[in-house]
Amino acid sequence: MGTAPVKSPPRGRIGSPPQRRLSPLERARVAEIFRRFAEATADPRTELRYESPYTLIVAVALSAQATDVSVNKATERLFRVADTPARMVALGEAGLIDFIKSIGLYRTKAKNVIALSNILLDRYGGEAPLERAALESLPGVGRKTASVVLNELGIEPAIAVDTHVFRVSHRLKLSKAPTPDGVERDLMAITPAPYRTRAHHWLILHGRYTCVARRPKCAACLIADLCPSRELFLGA
Ligand code: SF4
Repeated sequence: MGTAPVKSPPRGRIGSPPQRRLSPLERARVAEIFRRFAEATADPRTELRYESPYTLIVAVALSAQATDVSVNKATERLFRVADTPARMVALGEAGLIDFIKSIGLYRTKAKNVIALSNILLDRYGGEAPLERAALESLPGVGRKTASVVLNELGIEPAIAVDTHVFRVSHRLKLSKAPTPDGVERDLMAITPAPYRTRAHHWLILHGRYTCVARRPKCAACLIADLCPSRELFLGA
């Protein structure tokens, strides 16, 4: 994840069945976009490093408003000494801060990681609960973090919307929704089922490396001919 969140209003249900209807032409365009992503990168993965569901939860929680690179740098050392809830609690908040103080919001994140580790020990026998409601109830784990974890582990297809996914979805006119939750709903509705688990990663990677915020690389974009925004940037 590793990017600034987009502000969101109170949420409704998101994993609900598709609502947005596409014309046959639009459906074909969307299918072709994802077909090309799949052809280029069949098995996209998070760039966050993790070794277990627990370390994935911690890495994703640390990545809010931070780059994956900065999180990986910190967790590479951290997970050598604290890769389970018990070891994290033993490390303690001050000890954890020593490992993550190069990451934004590190004090709050340290507090949350220790608190969630305690909860995992108290309620779940030290295991990570791999179920949405349980995950979302953990300190510092919101809907987006839970979505990333569940999707990454192949438990529940989810398209968490960060700033990259939001921008790319708008430029490609996959959604006009003004909020991340609205974009997520649209993406879940229009993304063909075989691509749903991977869509989050493809859109993030596309936004991170090609459809960047300033001066998107349209000339090198593998879906430029399918993008309604291309003309806006090619002449820029
Ligand atoms: S053509 Fe340009 S604006 Fe459209 S998706 Fe590609 S990089 Fe982004």
